[in-house]
Amino acid sequence: MPARMQEGVARTYRTERIEVTWAPQRCIHSGECFSNLPEVFDPRARPWIRIRSGDPDLIEDTVARCPSGALAFYRIDDREGGTHDQR
Ligand code: SF4
Repeated sequence: MPARMQEGVARTYRTERIEVTWAPQRCIHSGECFSNLPEVFDPRARPWIRIRSGDPDLIEDTVARCPSGALAFYRIDDREGGTHDQR
């Protein structure tokens, strides 16, 4: 199995404006991301995060709602990045 497909290996999705990482071992499958921004977050698609399909500000807002901290972002276009870990 390729390393990128293994549980626990964080995946990275990037444009010239924003980078999003997803840590599958932390995801609790709450559905917050794909309920809020289905054009970007689609668990039936591959890749499941279509990073170029949404505005970076909306992606940032959605990542900030992730209840588990599985999603994190880094703004490449000079804005602050981070994660929203409520634990
Ligand atoms: S919002 Fe976070 S915890 Fe919920 S499904 Fe998306 S990545 Fe997983």
